[in-house]
Amino acid sequence: MALATMQTTGMVCAHHHLYSTLARGMPAPSRHSEHFTEILEDVWWRLDAAIDEDILYWSAALGAVEALLVGTTAIVDHHESPRFIEGSLSVLAKACRDVGVRLNTSYGVTDRWDDEGKLRSTVDPGSPMTSAARRGLDECDRFLSAGGEGMVGLHAAFTCSDETIAAAAELAAKHGVGVHVHVAEGPVDKDAGRRLEAWAKDDWLLVHGVFLDTPLRGRLVHNPRSNMNNSVGYARPSTRANTILLGTDGIGSDMLDEARVAYARLREFDVRESPDTVWGWLANNQALVPGVTRDVVTWNYDHMDSPWHLAFTTGVRPVRIQVNDEVVLDNGLPTKVEITEVRAKAAEQSKRLHERLST
Ligand SMILES: [Zn+2]
Repeated sequence: MALATMQTTGMVCAHHHLYSTLARGMPAPSRHSEHFTEILEDVWWRLDAAIDEDILYWSAALGAVEALLVGTTAIVDHHESPRFIEGSLSVLAKACRDVGVRLNTSYGVTDRWDDEGKLRSTVDPGSPMTSAARRGLDECDRFLSAGGEGMVGLHAAFTCSDETIAAAAELAAKHGVGVHVHVAEGPVDKDAGRRLEAWAKDDWLLVHGVFLDTPLRGRLVHNPRSNMNNSVGYARPSTRANTILLGTDGIGSDMLDEARVAYARLREFDVRESPDTVWGWLANNQALVPGVTRDVVTWNYDHMDSPWHLAFTTGVRPVRIQVNDEVVLDNGLPTKVEITEVRAKAAEQSKRLHERLST
């Protein structure tokens, strides 16, 4: 008997960090991180500082392969690699192109590395722009000027000076794109709304918004699993006026899985809610990446148009994917790259990365 299948357009992950794919299994921090800022210092800011070109390419290639395996054909990426800034966005774009996944990327500009190369956990709004921030802006400018698909990235208001926020907003306007920025993810960034409100526009991508207490223009990306993992609290997306989208914040790109988590968390918050709300957020992701509505994903399941089915059915997988009229996944496996080779190369780079992190 033939498998019951159904076709949809490609899934979009509205907030991802492809540089973090090889973080799994990284050496544990030397202390137990007690709160959000310590998690940033002990895990993510240690990791991004250890990334070089080879690590980045294979981290992104593995992330892109894993996206195809779950039917995601477009990734909206937010990137940071402070020791490998120039050219980093092109490395990400090449990895995704090689696998056959659409990418929108941005360098996450920040002033947290001062001009002596020292890390600061927060940055005084009145301080001058650092050379590292300037280089991040230049990387966004270079990539977008060369026709790259992307936005201008900002790490978060609490690690940026006012001068840097203004420069990012101006650069984004020059290119006719929005700014992709973490907003009020933890208590440390609770002033983000006030810091950004003079600049934010409807095409900005605001990520998290857990502690956002002022209205702010832009689309708001909800990342429920990441918020739970960092113990920062619930973003209450259903109470916001913004258009809501769904992201994974670097924890893979399985959007059906993220939607199931988002639904469970939403129901815990308000038992009157239905999966239609969350699948509406997922549908909003489509507008971020032009072309994705032409992608064709054939799934091993036949209720793809029913949020009530999808919210309670795990293991739904694509069997075939077509991106830009090219078959990029067939019989459940990528066609443009050899999956075993990508896994082997990624494992080599993962070993290098983890060694760098332990010294
Ligand atoms: Zn993020």
